[in-house]
Amino acid sequence: MTSVSPHKKARALKSTSRRPAKELCSECGLCDTYYIHYVKEACAFINQQIGELEEETHTRSRHLDNPDELYFGVHQDMMAARKQQPIEGAQWTGIVSSIAIEMLNRGIVEGVVCVQNTKEDRFQPMPVIARTPEEILAARVNKPTLSPNLSVLEQIEKSGMKRLLVIGVGCQIQALRAVEKQLGLEKLYVLGTPCVDNVNRAGLQKFLETTSRSPDTVVHYEFMQDFRVHFKHEDGSSETVPFFGLKTNQLKDVFAPSCMSCFDYVNSLADLVVGYMGAPFGWQWIVVRNDTGKEMLDLVKDQLDTQPVMSKGNRKEAVQQSIPAYDKGVTLPMWAAKLMGVVIEKIGPKGLEYARFSIDSHFTRNYLYVKRNHPEKLEAHVPEFAKRIVGQYKLPE
Ligand code: FAD
Ligand code: SF4
Repeated sequence: MTSVSPHKKARALKSTSRRPAKELCSECGLCDTYYIHYVKEACAFINQQIGELEEETHTRSRHLDNPDELYFGVHQDMMAARKQQPIEGAQWTGIVSSIAIEMLNRGIVEGVVCVQNTKEDRFQPMPVIARTPEEILAARVNKPTLSPNLSVLEQIEKSGMKRLLVIGVGCQIQALRAVEKQLGLEKLYVLGTPCVDNVNRAGLQKFLETTSRSPDTVVHYEFMQDFRVHFKHEDGSSETVPFFGLKTNQLKDVFAPSCMSCFDYVNSLADLVVGYMGAPFGWQWIVVRNDTGKEMLDLVKDQLDTQPVMSKGNRKEAVQQSIPAYDKGVTLPMWAAKLMGVVIEKIGPKGLEYARFSIDSHFTRNYLYVKRNHPEKLEAHVPEFAKRIVGQYKLPE
């Protein structure tokens, strides 16, 4: 008689049911599957366990006294890179899609968990297990909305797949690592992106309507290293809005409560992370966390230009000043915002220092959010590395 795994007896929640993490749920997709059986241990918002999972995944947790590991997590290498021939329509140059395609073409994996969009709405996420390069390419570009990537996990076990690549953001990857051993895989590869300030679909609409000159034609946007939001429109035109000109007072409630309580900006548990914020403008930023991550990056190295990471400027003053400004919801007039954007771009933090600026600003904001809205969670939910980062600043009550 074959024994049935205990999780197979569990039932996925209905899409309308309240999730165990309640308002902090990031809709990672775990609870859409029978792996909900493990939710109390696995959910990033119920049981923060980055340190323990770092040890399981990378054989050690980050060295808190090493300044780069404190900020960027366990790693063996970091660099700036860009594809010599960018993939048209990718978020940046398409390094993520290229690695996934190579892994599939060379038979290293049988499938890739990634997220396409629905036919009706280019920003509505639709997680899939891609089995062809075309299906991976159809998932290129960010869906800047909460995405239930793990909702396809049941299909993996049923398909009998043994070698899998999962692409995802921090909260999805934390839950994935917590159930990894239950998936019946021989090898799991994890390609992560950093993630911050995500929104649900209605929140995205509000963000576009308050920020862009033409919300209905936006196909792509990014908060970039030059302190501006860059929008790309359907007709190929672009639009930039300085960070300091954002209507902070109207946008305060737009970000999902999960993202206001997240301290895993840099996707600590992925094997390889591909973002942009530690790299010069126009380049992507790569963090190789372990040997599996190196193996993945090596597959595309001959398609990339690379350069060492750099760091310039001092973020501390700008972060300290941004804390009360954000807290009070101050919005500058557009002329002042543009001027400030120009000045800060000239003298402001660059490369890794820009990444630290962004991490500090978000961690201080999120720490205050958790302290005010979920004080009972503060101690256990905020990882030690984040407490040290936040501890560098003076926070309002
Ligand atoms: P592409 O080749 O275009 O591939 C993008 C991949 O992202 C696809 O495989 C797709 O499956 C996956 N994806 C798309 N949307 C989602 C989603 N909602 N959840 C999970 N996976 C998704 N980088 C930074 O350095 N700083 C940031 O602040 C930052 N914020 C981000 C916020 C969000 C919501 C997301 C999804 C990404 C963010 N990134 C950030 C990562 C960055 O924007 C790029 O995704 C990354 O550099 C890869 O670019 P690419 O051209 O190689 O990707
Ligand atoms: Fe479930 Fe994921 Fe929501 Fe946690 S974040 S309650 S694991 S769907």
